[in-house]
Amino acid sequence: MNFSPEQGSLLAYEHYGITATARPLNGYDEQNFLLTAQDGNKYTFKIAGSDISRTFLEAQADVMHHLDHSSIQGGFPVCLENKQGKAITTITYEGKEYHIRILTYLEGHFWVDEKNKNNFLYESLGEFLGAMDRSLEGICPDATVRNYVWDNNRAPEAEKKLHFIRDHEKRRIAAYFLLQFRTEVTPVLSELRHACIHGDANDYNLLVRNGRVSGLIDFGDMIYSATINNLAIACAYALLHTEDPIEKASLIVKGYHSQYPLTEQEIDILYYLIAGRLCISVTQSAEKSYSNSENEHHFLSEQSAWRLLYQLIRTNPLYAADQFRRSCGMMPCLNPEDDYSSLLSERNRYIGRNLSISYRTPLKIVKGALQYLYDDKGKTYLDCVNNVSHVGHCHPGVVYAIQSQAAILNTNTRYLHDNITSYAKALVDTLPERLSVCYFVNSGSEANDLAIRMARHFTGHNDIVVLDHAYHGTSTLAMEISPYKFDGIGGFGARHYIHKAASPNLYRGPYGIDDEAAGEKYAQSVKEIVQGLEREDKSPAAFICETLLGVGGQIPLPTGYLKQVYQYIRSAGGVCIADEVQVGFGRIGEAFWGFELQEVTPDIVVLGKPIGNGHPLAAVVVTQAIADAFNNGMEYFNTFGGNPVSMAAGMAVLNIIRQEELQQHALNTGNGLMDDLRKLMEKHTIIGDVRGHGLFVGVELVRNRVSKEPAVPEIDVIVERMKGRGFLLSTDGPLHNVLKIKPPMVISRQNCVDLVQALDEVLSEEL
Ligand code: PMP
Repeated sequence: MNFSPEQGSLLAYEHYGITATARPLNGYDEQNFLLTAQDGNKYTFKIAGSDISRTFLEAQADVMHHLDHSSIQGGFPVCLENKQGKAITTITYEGKEYHIRILTYLEGHFWVDEKNKNNFLYESLGEFLGAMDRSLEGICPDATVRNYVWDNNRAPEAEKKLHFIRDHEKRRIAAYFLLQFRTEVTPVLSELRHACIHGDANDYNLLVRNGRVSGLIDFGDMIYSATINNLAIACAYALLHTEDPIEKASLIVKGYHSQYPLTEQEIDILYYLIAGRLCISVTQSAEKSYSNSENEHHFLSEQSAWRLLYQLIRTNPLYAADQFRRSCGMMPCLNPEDDYSSLLSERNRYIGRNLSISYRTPLKIVKGALQYLYDDKGKTYLDCVNNVSHVGHCHPGVVYAIQSQAAILNTNTRYLHDNITSYAKALVDTLPERLSVCYFVNSGSEANDLAIRMARHFTGHNDIVVLDHAYHGTSTLAMEISPYKFDGIGGFGARHYIHKAASPNLYRGPYGIDDEAAGEKYAQSVKEIVQGLEREDKSPAAFICETLLGVGGQIPLPTGYLKQVYQYIRSAGGVCIADEVQVGFGRIGEAFWGFELQEVTPDIVVLGKPIGNGHPLAAVVVTQAIADAFNNGMEYFNTFGGNPVSMAAGMAVLNIIRQEELQQHALNTGNGLMDDLRKLMEKHTIIGDVRGHGLFVGVELVRNRVSKEPAVPEIDVIVERMKGRGFLLSTDGPLHNVLKIKPPMVISRQNCVDLVQALDEVLSEEL
């Protein structure tokens, strides 16, 4: 459609008897002109293609007419009648049908051009919309009941367009919000008030005069939908470019509520509705950019919509709901005074007391959002420690995989099922060729337990070599191979068949980072154990260690260490087990598995934690020979291990790591983080060492860099203060002085910058 201004003025004269000049105006899907008549009156002249139905345009005219007779008379354009007394004129031009209309022109300037956006203006926006929606209560022209992509009720349908978003982080955030819409909004949609709404009170449609919202144009998005969407959509645009979106939204909500009272239910989902609208907007822009649209209107708010989505995901939705409720004089939904004493006493009564809780004041986390966690007091935390939520808390890819398989079938492995074989195949494809047979279990402990059993079957030996300070789990056998437990408080000491080798700690051990032969030297400790066994006519069944030490203090292994150790163990007839529970699945950036850094291939790998993104899944993957030895006639059955839902979760995790290039992301983000942390060492002598690979990082704190006296209890103060600033960290290491950083892999560069800045601030305080 491309009418010239001259044609515009000719049509105005022909059908409406108006002599006017025409000047082009922007439009989303209609062609618009500004008409200036001889008498000085201004009008907008709109030409719609036949894809917009005449009945819909008539409904718009009726609604505008209705509103023009409401309490906010003058706030809306109205249609002029043509020579036949009709609001819409249908013409045929070059064989095609067009509908033309002339609307009265509203004075004022657009919201987007208002320089002084004060609180009063935001409140007036709410008042304007509230009065409008009150006037439209019960109004529902047939033509507004329609299937329309911009209908906020249908936000989840934008999921189909997520693939147009190329940037992984942005796509993930939009997908997250659409999942939340499905979870928090969709189930209650049918309970919400519905009516015909304007549906597009955006910053280019709202008019401002004398410091208040005075008008609203363009009824092209008019739709029968949840009434609250009118407010949500207006918020989505009014909050663009703001630094405090929830505070501004509260003013709009307040104004709206004063004219047309909102319900608690509407208020509590407003945050998700605003995000829903932004997701429709960004997916539409992504689709248009994919199809090379040059219409600037398609991209007007794209960058700022993303910025607002980023602001929203850092905002606890409960905080938003609470602020909105307060602005309406309703009961707040947060209770900042709750010290959890009643929950704690119930927990103490019904739950074993050594199931410990972190932090001096416990956290009650109620929702997860990728790398963020929300507590019940309205605060948002950046999760810097949860390596279980590998691809992010509530990653939609994993949630949907679990949801849909749970709705189809979940049963044990006594029946054939495609999921178990296809997942095993996908998992084995990530591993060296000789690691080819999978056993699926429910936890890392169970996996280590099974791994040890299999090693004993295969070798016929009983003794196990472990690393000092290691942790491998909580089952009886896993505890027996965990010095961290058996040497700790309440521990039972090493069983006679368990042998501790020295931890190859380049920072604290006898051989340091500058010693090129440190790996071999530390391996001597294993050699001595093997020799000791030989003297007793024994051989080791297995050597087990993590491929970067977690509980042992976030320690990368010295170069060549495992090569040497594996050789000693194998030549004595033992098998080598790599516990990848903490570090596997691309976390270390340079490789998918920790053992690859050491250029070795274990005989058994143990996988857990991130494998199911929080779904209880773990695995043992072994060589064919070990699997054959284990298959000795005794049945191996595991009720939950390998069930279709767990397999779907595991498959989703693998797919997401690949699709979102998370291994590469871990490398880049982790390297940036470690560089920044090392820079911090120049300023804060308490940082004795920064080490790690990818997003598995340790920061060792010392009181003195020479004596390396551990900075305890300083580290606890630091962790608490970081929590106060919204960063969840924890401590590890035999001396309890290592800050452990192993966040969900989706942590962003900006998150890391913020983390280091907060740490800098905390370390600058008196500890
Ligand atoms: N191995 C390692 C290295 C671990 O860190 C852990 C848990 N922290 C386990 C095994 C045990 O896993 P789970 O808690 O799933 O039993």
